[in-house]
Amino acid sequence: MYRLLVLLLLPLSMFAELKIAVTYPYIGALVKEIAKDNANTYVLAKGNWDPHFVVPRPSLIAKVRRAEGLIINGGELEIGWLPPLIRRASNSRIAKGTSGYLDLSVYIEFLEKPTRLDRADGDVHPQGNPHYHLDPNNILILANVIREFLISLDAENKTAYDKNFQTFKNMWSLKIKEWDEKMKDKKGMKVVQYHNNLAYFNKAYSLNNIGTIEPLPGIPPSSRHTLELINTMKTQKPSAILHDVYHSTKTAQFISSKTGVPIVIMPHDIESLDEIEDLVSLFDYLTSAIK
Ligand SMILES: [Zn+2]
Repeated sequence: MYRLLVLLLLPLSMFAELKIAVTYPYIGALVKEIAKDNANTYVLAKGNWDPHFVVPRPSLIAKVRRAEGLIINGGELEIGWLPPLIRRASNSRIAKGTSGYLDLSVYIEFLEKPTRLDRADGDVHPQGNPHYHLDPNNILILANVIREFLISLDAENKTAYDKNFQTFKNMWSLKIKEWDEKMKDKKGMKVVQYHNNLAYFNKAYSLNNIGTIEPLPGIPPSSRHTLELINTMKTQKPSAILHDVYHSTKTAQFISSKTGVPIVIMPHDIESLDEIEDLVSLFDYLTSAIK
């Protein structure tokens, strides 16, 4: 009886797991690494969707409404779909500017920052390239930011978050060395992409992106741009056309048939292909895909 009474008097928060909504699977995986059983993670976008264009379905509103913390990629990657979800969820705990809101992009040095202010031409990267999580070195920065965020929401479990972060950091640092070794002989390799998803991956491993099938980020291929790209590729002879999983490969196949350059599918997030189950398998795959 006494025990029961003690249990009843303990604050509810001691038993409750944190409810964290995140926009993409890679963020969810990081939260799981650092929080383990101390958080329930709700991932809003599926890994095989175009991260720029997510349909804000009602089931996603419920996830945002329940959340005690919201972690986003930022850099305007979610600009087309997250703001209406947040508005309709009307959850003050995760409002922008509150302690429950974390924009990871704030902690990252962006590539392709705009050189002019007016980019009203449909470009979906108006602040620079937001696909920074595909540099494995950035993953460590994000893991640490998420550790601090979880501690700020749940200081009681600081020891666990610190310990889990350290375990992850040790494992990830070894993997970074392994991936560096695997990619060593790819330095300077020329590639083409559909969309510049791999800007940070390419920089990390010194791959040289010589063009994209999209004329501008988010703008579908045009015949004029495609023909120009084919000419560029005939002169520069890139090794591969790196392609995401969610755009049609029709134009890439046409370009490949004209140039002989093979298409290589490059997953951008966990679950974008069946075999990509976690962050390690994502980078294992990416660092093995280019031959
Ligand atoms: Zn993009």
